Amino acid sequence: MRNGALAVLLTAGLAAAAPAATQQPRRRAPPPAPPRVAPAAASHVPTPRSVLGFDPGDDRKLADWPTLTRYYQALAQASDRMQYRELGKTTLGAPLVALVISSAQNLRRLERYRQLNARLADPRTLKTAREGQEALRDAKTVVLITSGIHSDEVGGHLTPAVLAYRLASDTSAATREILDKVVLWLVPSLNPDGVTIVTRWYNRTLGTVAEGSDPPELYHHYVGHDNNRDWYAFTQVETQLVVDSIYNVWHPQVVHDIHQQESDGSRLFLPPYLDPIEPNVDPLLVDGVNALGTAIAWELAGEGKTGIAINALYDAWTPARAYQHYHGGVRILSEAASAKLASPIDIPFDQLATRARGFDPRERSWNFTNPWPGGRWTLRDIVSYQTDGAYALLENAARYHDRWLANFLVVEGRAVRGWKGWPYAYVIPRQHQDTVGLATLLGILRRGQVEIRTALHPMTIGGQRFPAGSYVVVLRQPYAAFAKTLLEPQHYPDLRLYPGGPPLPPYDVTANTLPLLMGVTAVPARDSLRIGLSPPLEPPAATPGYPGFSGPDAPRVALYRSYVNNTDKGAIDEGWTRWVFDTWKVPYASVVDSVVRAGKLNDQFDVIVLPDQEPHDLLEGLPREYPAPYAGGLGPEGVKALRQFVSDGGTLVALNDASRFAVEQLLLPVRNVLEGVADDEFYAPGSIFRLELDTGDPLARDMPAQSVAWYESGPAFEVLDSSAARVVGRYPTDPDRVLLSGWALHPERVAGRAALVEVKLGSGRVVLFGFRPQYRGQSIATYPLLFNSLQLTTR
Ligand SMILES: [Zn+2]
Repeated sequence: MRNGALAVLLTAGLAAAAPAATQQPRRRAPPPAPPRVAPAAASHVPTPRSVLGFDPGDDRKLADWPTLTRYYQALAQASDRMQYRELGKTTLGAPLVALVISSAQNLRRLERYRQLNARLADPRTLKTAREGQEALRDAKTVVLITSGIHSDEVGGHLTPAVLAYRLASDTSAATREILDKVVLWLVPSLNPDGVTIVTRWYNRTLGTVAEGSDPPELYHHYVGHDNNRDWYAFTQVETQLVVDSIYNVWHPQVVHDIHQQESDGSRLFLPPYLDPIEPNVDPLLVDGVNALGTAIAWELAGEGKTGIAINALYDAWTPARAYQHYHGGVRILSEAASAKLASPIDIPFDQLATRARGFDPRERSWNFTNPWPGGRWTLRDIVSYQTDGAYALLENAARYHDRWLANFLVVEGRAVRGWKGWPYAYVIPRQHQDTVGLATLLGILRRGQVEIRTALHPMTIGGQRFPAGSYVVVLRQPYAAFAKTLLEPQHYPDLRLYPGGPPLPPYDVTANTLPLLMGVTAVPARDSLRIGLSPPLEPPAATPGYPGFSGPDAPRVALYRSYVNNTDKGAIDEGWTRWVFDTWKVPYASVVDSVVRAGKLNDQFDVIVLPDQEPHDLLEGLPREYPAPYAGGLGPEGVKALRQFVSDGGTLVALNDASRFAVEQLLLPVRNVLEGVADDEFYAPGSIFRLELDTGDPLARDMPAQSVAWYESGPAFEVLDSSAARVVGRYPTDPDRVLLSGWALHPERVAGRAALVEVKLGSGRVVLFGFRPQYRGQSIATYPLLFNSLQLTTR
């Protein structure tokens, strides 16, 4: 019998009521089913309540990270089905942990299963067909479930506890099959620091008008919500630990990442993803994603859950969120509707949003078969959808164990043989490169398990000569797709809402060409190189640093830090800037609204940096519901202080959208030519543009005349008074030369326009960037522009 017989009966009752609910969608939602409990729970296994002090899903109850880790330790202590591992320490020093879960028998032979999977991951290690068959027969499906990367998606804090308890205690045949056929790695939080940040804020504001609000700080110390955009650049320690110790060691066939979405759309999103799918992903993995996502949705619908959307909202273009799509496995994203952190909400049916992409939450469609009727939505609902979804995924991984493993071997076999039409290799010379960029790029490939070799002899490709010692990445290896995706330019398809209509936005950005971003040349070689290559080697380590930031003459840098966080933009760019400064050893002080408003800024600072942020957020800050000192932004006093600071000789550096703030508030003689331009007249939502620089200008010191700009919905400038404003960088006048990678609709709108401008004001200056010079820790090619801008004030 299936596990949770009682719950199945209960949910069957709900399922019977569902058609009526669909026809009369305004009636109240039926009460949520209680979480399925194990019918014959082994009594020695501690319940979540016994350690957390409440049942996961109880309204207004969250646990901090030390409490949650105590629970996982207690579980592993009591159960022979799981082991507790500490992978390392987070950015703020908390333990990053994982549970490995399988049958007691499997856990005793864990090393053997790791070896078997490693052989399937690299078919070159299988000497005969028979060895392959034996490995397929003996191996286990490896599943990695990760949760809580976005810490305000609080269901993800608790669901792993419920899931782990179920797997530790349940004695049903279904659970036994999972434990027998699957080795599960469960990472209960990819961002433990954020669990504590959000939980502390939630408890502090409980019962106040700010209850359920986001904390006024990034929930990841450096990158906030962008921590899920780091799965190829590997800048953050949490990403590094999980990639190094689980992905690269265990090569999971199935990765499941648990998230939450807006409150007013579907109750749960599951794949298939929307187009576009990144073209280097093996088609069999796309098939796997489609089959598994749909199977989970079907399973949950059978249990009586409504409001499940597939093939909506989320595409599979960027590798920034999908490491395993380039490493032989599928990535199943789930996105449950949010409440207000742990506080319940009420959403009448007619307030469900119709703006959702790919479906309408108020109408039945093939990919949204049974609308949720509206009503109360609680943390318990979220935990229930997430836990049952993860369990259904595990059942599938066990039931189709043979298929998952066979397909895994097929995908890796095709990668090793090479895909028709792909270059044979990429050649990366050592000379004339940005040395930190080169080391960083090679380090990323290496961390992604790409084999890097060097040429033993000189060679010529397309008339260009490359010396012996040049790096060579042959695209016939298990993770060739990872290398190709990061080395080639992207051609994002021109997708519209309807023919001739506005552009369909990508879920994230459209470009990820690392050689462009890092100032490195990588040349594709169509054919075999016909020269000897070294064995795979370790690339040199990067040693970031920039002159002019040490000693008594170093500029006194202030970095503005907004309390508006964790929205699409928020202060995430501030976090990235801080990360770049820390990594490159640029000294700085963080300044908040009250410091700027207080004025006398020249006494303390030579330069103030405003990171990329909406002008409205900079000016107004957080709403009044927030307690002091968080509400209100820079305000008129802050603007006045900034104006004084510049007039008295200071430098204000404004990045991307913050440039619009500076132009508007300081009344600079510069016009944003894209102000008010509709998306169908110009659109580039995260692309790499060509940038032409005036290398005689101090701002462009140490830069080549031709560089790049990470363009992401920023301004482009026209100078209205050339006696006060100087153009240092602009986009090419030929529209066809603007775009280097990604997507740009109507590039003629920005062709020839200024991208980097210095404006004199009093005895100081404002530097306006129309792009992001330190984009997500990747655009190393343009870091010097930012660093130079910090050194303009003379004391
Ligand atoms: Zn999320």
